[in-house]
Amino acid sequence: MTPNDAYIKLLDEVRTTALLESCSSLLGWDEQTYMPAGGAEHRSRQQSLLAGMVHERATSPRIGELLAAVEGSDVVADPASPASANVREIRRDFDRATKLPRRLVEEESRVSSLAQQAWIEARKKSDFVIFLPWLEQVVALKREEAQAIGYGNGVPYDALLDQFEPGMTTAEVKRLFGPLQEELVKLIGAIATSGKRPDRTILSRNYPVEAQRQFGLNAAKQIGFDFDSGRLDETAHPFCSGIGPGDCRLTTRYNPQHFPGAFFGTLHEAGHGIYDQGLDPAAYGTPLGSAVSLGIHESQSRMWENFVGRSRAFWQHFFPKARQAFPEALTDVSPETFYAAINDVEPSFIRVEADEATYNLHILLRFDIEQQLVAGDLAPRDVPAVWNDTFRRYFNLTPPNDSLGCLQDIHWSFGGIGYFPTYTLGNMNAAQLFTAAQRDLGDLPAAFARGEFQPLKEWLNEKIHRRGKLLRASRLVEEVTGSSLTHHPLMQHLHGKFDELYGL
Ligand code: ZN
Repeated sequence: MTPNDAYIKLLDEVRTTALLESCSSLLGWDEQTYMPAGGAEHRSRQQSLLAGMVHERATSPRIGELLAAVEGSDVVADPASPASANVREIRRDFDRATKLPRRLVEEESRVSSLAQQAWIEARKKSDFVIFLPWLEQVVALKREEAQAIGYGNGVPYDALLDQFEPGMTTAEVKRLFGPLQEELVKLIGAIATSGKRPDRTILSRNYPVEAQRQFGLNAAKQIGFDFDSGRLDETAHPFCSGIGPGDCRLTTRYNPQHFPGAFFGTLHEAGHGIYDQGLDPAAYGTPLGSAVSLGIHESQSRMWENFVGRSRAFWQHFFPKARQAFPEALTDVSPETFYAAINDVEPSFIRVEADEATYNLHILLRFDIEQQLVAGDLAPRDVPAVWNDTFRRYFNLTPPNDSLGCLQDIHWSFGGIGYFPTYTLGNMNAAQLFTAAQRDLGDLPAAFARGEFQPLKEWLNEKIHRRGKLLRASRLVEEVTGSSLTHHPLMQHLHGKFDELYGL
């Protein structure tokens, strides 16, 4: 077999695996939206069959043979070529999948489903002791996983982080988060002592669900989400699932007494969806047709949600429409009052409800604790105390119980250690990319005020979406923006908005 034949066969293999995975995604979407409760057991059998098939394909010796036939050949002579990127990423996935012993994979899957059940009960009763034995097992398994995968520099957390943010290291994240933390704590402190408080109660008036659905749908459409190739449904925990070319599913949840949750949630998921819809359909199932990393994916959702959706210019266009859609809630509200309310900064206990500024401190706290757990420097039983201490230092508040503290997130129960940093990396990427978009496209706020979002969407399509995994995240950001990732654009964005709103 020639190297070129091997390359074509290799792409066939990964495409078929991706097709199989997309069947599982569709079943997952259905499970979260329309499946009757009685279908749970049958669905879990379907999912487990598919997961087994995907794992078998992903670790097949055939992939190893094909990779060996391509690597070092003319096909990958140019390291910057699309073929080289495909081979590099297929090799990475294959190595990760085959390094994990079957026993460990099965044990992780068994423990994570039981740990999630324990976590639900522990959170409900706000009783960390219920979750503790499971957290201990999850951390032990993750430490074992890190050993199996391997890491440089004696930092096992690197191996876990790399799963979600390929190529990123713990040292690099620390270098990025250190100065961010220092400046955020100062900014949030200054806002707290400014004495200014917007009237947030206007967001908790009567916002009928049907009007919210229409309004959110229209906004998602206008920023560029294509509803001929996607849809929006309801779920308890909102997400976006790119099933494949021409089919992307957004979900949200409505509260008739609260406007921001569903609306900004819809913009956020639509941002993820615009990325998925912008991937090259001809490269579907291969690395070149796949998203770069979670940190880049999150940059797209945050950009549309915060940099666009919470901007003054956006509401110059949308506020008159909002008044028409919600006359009871907004007739006596000025655009400025509304703008201040949706941008209120106030320290609170729950990450997913946090504002643009305090959100990142929630992530820095988790990153700190996760690293120590994986390094073996922190025992799981000491997590609540360390959590509350750190929280007090960052926010000047103490969580009254563990449900509002270390038990609030699902991530540790499903083994998602190493996931949290990608949220703040997403915010930093969003800021730096948005700054570059303004440099390239001129006055974006003026376009937003006219209801024009196409230029930004097309810029993102060209610079990010269409290229798939051609470049790793840090190289991509460097190439598109002209410099490597720093905390400065994010802090400039936050100061630009909040210094004015709070008179700092
Ligand atoms: Zn997201």
